[in-house]
Amino acid sequence: MTNSVFISGVEIYKFDIPFTKPIKVALGTFHHAPNILVRIISDDGLDGLGESSPIWSITGETQETAFQAGQALAQLWLHKNPLETAERMKDLEEFLIHNSSIKCAFDMALFDWVGKRLGIPLYALLGGIRRPLITDITLGIASPQEMASEARERIAQGFSSLKIKLGTTVEEDVARMCAIRREIGKDVILRIDANQGWDCPTAIAALRALAPFKIEYCEQPVARWNLAGLKQVQEASPIPIAADESLFDHHDAFSLASLGACDYFNIKLAKSGGIQNALKINAVAEASGIRCMLGCMFETRLALTAAAHLAAARPNIVFLDLDSAFFLAEDPILGGLIYEKETILLPDLPGLGAAIQPDYLAGLDHVTIGNTNN
Ligand code: MG
Repeated sequence: MTNSVFISGVEIYKFDIPFTKPIKVALGTFHHAPNILVRIISDDGLDGLGESSPIWSITGETQETAFQAGQALAQLWLHKNPLETAERMKDLEEFLIHNSSIKCAFDMALFDWVGKRLGIPLYALLGGIRRPLITDITLGIASPQEMASEARERIAQGFSSLKIKLGTTVEEDVARMCAIRREIGKDVILRIDANQGWDCPTAIAALRALAPFKIEYCEQPVARWNLAGLKQVQEASPIPIAADESLFDHHDAFSLASLGACDYFNIKLAKSGGIQNALKINAVAEASGIRCMLGCMFETRLALTAAAHLAAARPNIVFLDLDSAFFLAEDPILGGLIYEKETILLPDLPGLGAAIQPDYLAGLDHVTIGNTNN
């Protein structure tokens, strides 16, 4: 194999996918996925695909800022070798801080390209096993009765673990969990996510009041910046605590682990800036005895497939919340992971093993940096 290959061009696409119904969480109500697709092309005509799911209130990016930042990042990669994955991500990190979801799309496209180049699936490239994975499914904030009936529907569809969005008042959140447990019994695994909705005293009161409902863990009870508060809550809570919005990259992981501020990490590719940093987070987690969850933003099955490949490659990633495809009204992805009820089956093709329908892609707004007609 020649190592003299280089990236000749990058295409950046905007695409919006409506939800089947609005999703309410403590951070706000979301109606659609305003995503970005990145396609890198090497001089020999091989391509790689990656997806960005920017969420304003979490990553600080909009679709428009991600689209603009992506064009600057693409310039950095022209005429450079895509096999040098660590160097390519260093190019991006040194040029631009934050902007994790657009960096994620570039990182993912690189890994897709390398897998195709080597002729092996991403899970194999990462040292993993093609094993079935189990995801939970999320319930947005609604009335106790609505959430209980949605929980029943999801159980009937074959899910055995639910992630329940909370984070309003103690009284309302207790009423929600009480209604859900009453409806579905005690065997279903329940995780909760307050999305920073509580302050410290409220979080401690809520978690103590919710303990009888047998909850596996609670994500991000307090504000993302409040690591001291997170530690205070973790120490007082009868329910284990997972860091989500407080954890973007491996530096955050080290801070959280050093402080002893949480029991679990929720890794998301859109927060870490892609697979390379997600591996670094997981390494810090393994070194600290912290098990990881792999979550998602509002990605299509393209980025969800990348996340599933990663989960199949790291035994320390034990909780999966890769469910955003269930909320999207369209699925423009060819190939990729398949859901059989709650079970995720990975493709066995080189790279991600997923692509975008050509007709769908042709209809999207996009820019081309460099030359993509090889
Ligand atoms: Mg969360």
